[in-house]
Amino acid sequence: MEILPYFKRTSFVVNKDRYYQFSFKTLLFYALFLILSGCNSPEEPMPEIVFSPGNEHILAPPIIEHPRTSNDDSYDNDVPRTWYPPSGAEKQWTAIIVHHSATEKGNAAIFNKWHIEQHGWDGVGYDFVIGNGTDSGDGQVEVTFRWRQQITGAHCKTPDNWANEDGIGICLVGNFNNYRPTERQMQSLVNLTRFLKKRYGISNSRIYGHGTTPGANVTDCPGSMFPIARFKSMVGS
Ligand SMILES: [Zn+2]
Repeated sequence: MEILPYFKRTSFVVNKDRYYQFSFKTLLFYALFLILSGCNSPEEPMPEIVFSPGNEHILAPPIIEHPRTSNDDSYDNDVPRTWYPPSGAEKQWTAIIVHHSATEKGNAAIFNKWHIEQHGWDGVGYDFVIGNGTDSGDGQVEVTFRWRQQITGAHCKTPDNWANEDGIGICLVGNFNNYRPTERQMQSLVNLTRFLKKRYGISNSRIYGHGTTPGANVTDCPGSMFPIARFKSMVGS
């Protein structure tokens, strides 16, 4: 999107007759577009392994070993069966990364469509999507194809791609720069995180918001009002 040249071309008096059509409405449209696009900015490229100067040293943080405490062959009745990965194809995930959609509405199918059409990805970038009562239930946890197939995510780019390779991506629908997640979203996030923590032995030190993930691009995701400290204390150690 060439905002700058367009602005330059049209904002001053040279050839005023020809270019007078620049208007405040146009500027407002672009501003709104940029604000609303948030995490789903169409300019965001497909996550890939890219080494940029000065970032070579940022690699995956050390893994603190925790023994797995769950038994692969048994199901916990309090955990939806769909949260369990397929048997025989389970990856050893080492981190959990929380996102917001930066949109008011949405669900896994809608984000799937956007990520294919806008980014050219192979589908929605996240493993799980937690609804806010707009396009899916408030606190409803949707499991995406990435989790069902245990494949690399497309939600958090880092120089060595560790977060997509090894991190589980959970997206809460909403824009938490403007308000907090709903209580039902928080409770579902806590339940899901507890299950994943236990299954993979992930410590709280490897649970991140997108923007504080080591090596991640600068982003305000999951929003300035996402209560990360409260979330971790709800999850427990
Ligand atoms: Zn994000």
